[in-house]
Amino acid sequence: MSLRKKNILSGDDPMAIDEAVRTLKEDSLVAIPTETVYGLAARASSPNAIKKIFTIKGRPTEHPLILHIAKIQDLPLWSSELSNDAHVLAEKYWPGPLTLVVRRNNKVCDEITGGRDTVAIRCPSHPITTELLIRLGDAIVAPSANRFGKVSPTSALHVAEDFADEINVILDGGECSIGVESTIVDCTTNPPQILRAGAITAEKIQIECGITVASASGESRASGMLEKHYAPNCAVELVSDRKDAETRLSQLNRDGRSGEIIDFGADLEMYAHELYSRLRDADKRLVDVVIAVKPSMSGIGIAINERLKKASNAA
Ligand code: AMP
Ligand code: MG
Repeated sequence: MSLRKKNILSGDDPMAIDEAVRTLKEDSLVAIPTETVYGLAARASSPNAIKKIFTIKGRPTEHPLILHIAKIQDLPLWSSELSNDAHVLAEKYWPGPLTLVVRRNNKVCDEITGGRDTVAIRCPSHPITTELLIRLGDAIVAPSANRFGKVSPTSALHVAEDFADEINVILDGGECSIGVESTIVDCTTNPPQILRAGAITAEKIQIECGITVASASGESRASGMLEKHYAPNCAVELVSDRKDAETRLSQLNRDGRSGEIIDFGADLEMYAHELYSRLRDADKRLVDVVIAVKPSMSGIGIAINERLKKASNAA
């Protein structure tokens, strides 16, 4: 345990942020807290450092990474031809759990985008990561800090469990307040499209900004759209209500298998906050089947249902 924890540094300690900046400048990787999930970060201007992300995660290089910036004013540094919708969405939701896909400019290297002419950009709201970005004086690129295809981390300890030896600096910023990945909106299509559901929904965007966003269509452009993703080792089964969950649990127990119910009733925020942690915990305890009660398809419930569906497909 002590070995696992030696790379976790408290993000509240200014010396830890100095250490993280130094590590990034040496082209090594740092795990960072965000309001969505923990990220595995490399300096955006270093193709060498970015390549390490793909190696360590076991992630195919054609899966593009999200560029994280310190402030909204940095958006034009990395993009070109910003649509009016992109401006409005950034103004409204940044810093926050929204990623915008926009046309890239030549400061963005091919390693980030997998050779695409678009780039996904987000301005995260976690104060420790904002401080890190300001002190670094560069953007970072960061996918979730988990092995490819597995459950995303929502605490520093989760990151250390996946990458005990590969990452020297894991900045601890506490549990992620939201707990599921950012909403991704592609602003290069008309109307814009949601490529991945998150805390900011199409309905919210419609009501708050008057912008209609469509569901994703065409080729799969976000790795979050892969059918197999967010998968724990245990099987995940989805049921509609608590009663069905309990019936299924008894059945499993009768068959000599272990099961566990995930159900947060109408508390969708709590469901999002706890989901990945509960899946990871079930794996640690070698639970055979997690029985998840599907939340309602409203608000962040849409994102939770999307992740659960993928986790349940992965068996
Ligand atoms: P993660 O897999 O957790 O790193 O999340 C990153 C997400 O952003 C993935 O679903 C990527 O495919 C998506 N993404 C990054 N860049 C782009 C892009 N240029 N176009 C579409 N999706 C992108
Ligand atoms: Mg991920």
